[in-house]
Amino acid sequence: MVATSPYLPTVRTTCPYCAVQCNFDLHLEDNLPVRITPTRECPVAHGTVCKKGLAALHDVRHPDRLTQPLLRKGGELVAVSWTEALAYAREALAPAVQSCPDATGVFGSGSLTNEKTYLLGKFARLALRTANIDYNGRYCMASASTALNRTVGYDRGLGFPLEDIGTSDLILLVGANIAETLPPIMQYLKAARDRGALIYAIDPRATTTAKVAGQHLAIRPGSDAALALGVLHLMKIWGRIRPTAPAHGMAEVLWQAEAYRPARVARECGVSEAEIMTLAQRYAAAQRPLILTGRGAEQHAHGTDTVQALINLAFLTGHFGKPGAGYGTLTGQGNGQGGREHGQKTDQLPGARSLRNPEHRAEMAQVWGCLPGDLPQPGLSAQELLNACGQPGGIETLIVLGANPVVSAAGARQVTERLKALKHLIVIDFLPSETAQLATLVLPGSMWCEEEGTTTNLEGRVQRRRKAITAPGGAREDWRILCDLAQAAGRPEGFTYSTFRELQDEFFRATRGGQADYSGLSAERLDRASVQWPVPHPDSPGTPYAYAPTYPTPDRLATLHVPQLPPPAAPRLTLTLTTGRLGNQYQSGSQTRRNPALRADAAVQMHPDTAREHGLRAGEPVTLRTAHGETTLPVLLAPGIRPDTVFVPFHWPGTANLLTSPESLDPLSRMPAFKATAVTLHPAVVG
Ligand code: SF4
Repeated sequence: MVATSPYLPTVRTTCPYCAVQCNFDLHLEDNLPVRITPTRECPVAHGTVCKKGLAALHDVRHPDRLTQPLLRKGGELVAVSWTEALAYAREALAPAVQSCPDATGVFGSGSLTNEKTYLLGKFARLALRTANIDYNGRYCMASASTALNRTVGYDRGLGFPLEDIGTSDLILLVGANIAETLPPIMQYLKAARDRGALIYAIDPRATTTAKVAGQHLAIRPGSDAALALGVLHLMKIWGRIRPTAPAHGMAEVLWQAEAYRPARVARECGVSEAEIMTLAQRYAAAQRPLILTGRGAEQHAHGTDTVQALINLAFLTGHFGKPGAGYGTLTGQGNGQGGREHGQKTDQLPGARSLRNPEHRAEMAQVWGCLPGDLPQPGLSAQELLNACGQPGGIETLIVLGANPVVSAAGARQVTERLKALKHLIVIDFLPSETAQLATLVLPGSMWCEEEGTTTNLEGRVQRRRKAITAPGGAREDWRILCDLAQAAGRPEGFTYSTFRELQDEFFRATRGGQADYSGLSAERLDRASVQWPVPHPDSPGTPYAYAPTYPTPDRLATLHVPQLPPPAAPRLTLTLTTGRLGNQYQSGSQTRRNPALRADAAVQMHPDTAREHGLRAGEPVTLRTAHGETTLPVLLAPGIRPDTVFVPFHWPGTANLLTSPESLDPLSRMPAFKATAVTLHPAVVG
């Protein structure tokens, strides 16, 4: 416990929500947190927190809080003892481990601490022996991660400290609504602007960020890669190609850009040639241009190639990996960075090792006391895992930890049907999410202020999360539940930690030699200060600047890939639906929808001209129909959105993801196409 107040005991910890990972103090009274105060010592937010963070205590003793295991009996979830719950888990898990391990799936989350991420991956591969583990980060930054890994063999969202953003002289925010989703980062953008930087919001909507940025380029959803290629085309013509370092594939990438003349790019992006030219001129003139992507650029069936096009532009103009310049992705979920490093991705082992790499397999087998051949090969990605649930030869039992795919996955109707078809659905959560409500067994887990651990923010900064209170009633810490389930599966070896510290020390050790090397860390060291990874030994100062001109690839060179893009857009006959987040809500909304301080309503945002064309007025219900489903929502007039685009936030069940496709996936990152779906509007049948 860190003493920061003379009046009430306080515990300094990290926010449960977004990837900035602001630090704040929890003030305790009668062993309950009663107040949050931001801390000026916070290395990322410097004494600010957003309204979500300030309201985070609402769930702590919420009446919906799960405090006992729930088992489905006669169609109803009823409270049972842990003994009965684990007996059910034994029947569900133990036979499958012996006969058909891949029929059990595990679905994790980018909100889990690093230690839980690590343990979940180990649990799936050693206790359950299944290949089929993946997580909801597949819906977050998977396309950016895939593009970075295949280009430079490395994936840290921001390769430099956040404050370096303030030194950039041109910032392109591509599909990133920072003002609503990562508010403290606005202070760095404002610092850049105060020094004379130009800031562009490249987004089909005039978001809050676009209004602050000053420059708004309202391109069509999904046309970001064409824009990048158009700017690269002009950089070549203007003699601005100065590669950051020798690399493979440069000639091919430049050859592709030849075809992206301003007229074509303007047509594909749905903006004027003059706007393209102005942006390119500003990019050419900038000394430290920085391209930052959010989900708007990444959540497409060609998301990896979109990010690739932006990385290629930064690389070929000499900016990639430079402090405050180049390219970065703004991870969204609380531990979106650490959650993608330590083994809950289906193709990955701790320390951002690859499950396909024989050396990496051998390293982890040594840590875990097994043979490399005992480790499964990569299995199904998140959406494929859900699609396989309850299908012949597919997944019979699914374990979900800290995720709510019924709301957050693409194709919500199909996902719901598939989860209902499972033999066993075991959900570990602290609130009865929509996914938990379908479960056959719900195990009450711990929430953020009831557990120890570490999280890694969007600049690769590892910070301590501290336990302030004990989970109520029969709720248990998640790491203990995973150990209980390993025992229930009949394979407790390697899951007999007597303390959390034992697990944490094993986790740090397990990352040694990986790209995301945390082996120089300890809880004591993190008490003194947060550190940006890699931290390969206790004396390492950490690595504020991650992208050197040589890379951890076999020949130390980067490889630029030619983006594979869909055919040029035809004239739009229908509207495009794009989905996304609101400032007041977090992810599937399971926590934030319950909080009156964060009240927000589901609605479809559309341009007033679009509403007029369809005979709609503000507040009236309208039915949205796509090839994948339909939903009815009230109209919210938004003059800043493109008239050919409508926007629906995804935080509510039965809304945005009823309209998205569960089958249309990026071929490399397996990211669903959340951001561009053809949609039609119809008068709602009021009944
Ligand atoms: Fe900070 Fe994000 Fe939490 Fe807001 S939601 S307080 S920005 S970590």
